[in-house]
Amino acid sequence: MGDRSFLNWPFFEARHRELAENLDAWATENLRDINHAETDAACRDLVAALGRGGWLKHTGAPLDVRTLCLIRETLARHDGLADFAFAMQGLGMGPVTLFGTDKQRKWLEKTTNGEAISAFALSEPKSGSDVANIELSAVSDAKGWILDGEKTWISNGGIADVYTVFARTEDGPGAKGLSAFLIPADTAGLEVAERLETGAPHPLARLRFNGVRIPQDAMIGTSGQGFRIAMSVLDIFRSTVGAAALGFARRALDETLTPCPKPPLVRRPDE
Ligand SMILES: Cc1cc2nc3c(=O)[nH]c(=O)nc-3n(C[C@H](O)[C@H](O)[C@H](O)COP(=O)(O)OP(=O)(O)OC[C@H]3O[C@@H](n4cnc5c(N)ncnc54)[C@H](O)[C@@H]3O)c2cc1C
Repeated sequence: MGDRSFLNWPFFEARHRELAENLDAWATENLRDINHAETDAACRDLVAALGRGGWLKHTGAPLDVRTLCLIRETLARHDGLADFAFAMQGLGMGPVTLFGTDKQRKWLEKTTNGEAISAFALSEPKSGSDVANIELSAVSDAKGWILDGEKTWISNGGIADVYTVFARTEDGPGAKGLSAFLIPADTAGLEVAERLETGAPHPLARLRFNGVRIPQDAMIGTSGQGFRIAMSVLDIFRSTVGAAALGFARRALDETLTPCPKPPLVRRPDE
């Protein structure tokens, strides 16, 4: 890429500049042979590669927004699916990184070394940006919680090993009645109801929760804290979306300015 003067912007430190240069070199070497024909397999390979490369450790504590932005800008410039794979490890486990217990943080060891894939399940068919309208219910009994309802547009849905899920626990009205849970993908009653297709393919699904029973200690933070947890995570990752968009735009500019190879010379038979 031509202009890298942005790395001299005053809010970057030497460690950020070094990280961006190292990741650029790593991505040049490691992301050129990704086979995008099989999206799920490509995503799994990318998570494993990013884990081996040591990059996923930045998706756990401490979540440094400048580091996350530089990584997303760089990965997006090299390979959009690599950026997606990286971002979802951070977003999916963000609630645990910020609010989880030591037991829940055991999952972070796996997601930050590329052994497990995570997902962030907030949106529902009737609740997008209006998060306070979430309907998926979590009802408590002596043994724990029982979840019923649906989530949709869940990135990594279908390939995730673990989901952070936001549900209504009725601690109060609207946003005050939500709580967050950590749920392994193989929990009984949690089904992938539909895989969703997008223009730029990545794993995406509608999930169905049919009486999903989870223990008391699956709750992240405290009851009624779900909205705050979701917003705290989104606040960190929101600016990284802009950084990824910058990476895509820089790649598009580079491709546009790269001269096309000369057309082959056409020779007439009599020449
Ligand atoms: C590719 C893709 C991946 C996704 N991945 C995930 C994921 O991993 N996890 C997850 O939980 N969700 C995911 N989502 C869902 C995403 O977070 C929602 O699409 C988003 O929250 C917007 O919700 P919505 O689509 O229902 O739009 P709406 O909330 O219906 O909004 C539609 C439009 O109305 C505007 N609007 C909304 N409310 C108001 C208001 N009160 N006043 C004025 N304007 C308003 C919005 O700004 C927007 O322009 C994904 C979506 C996509 C497309």
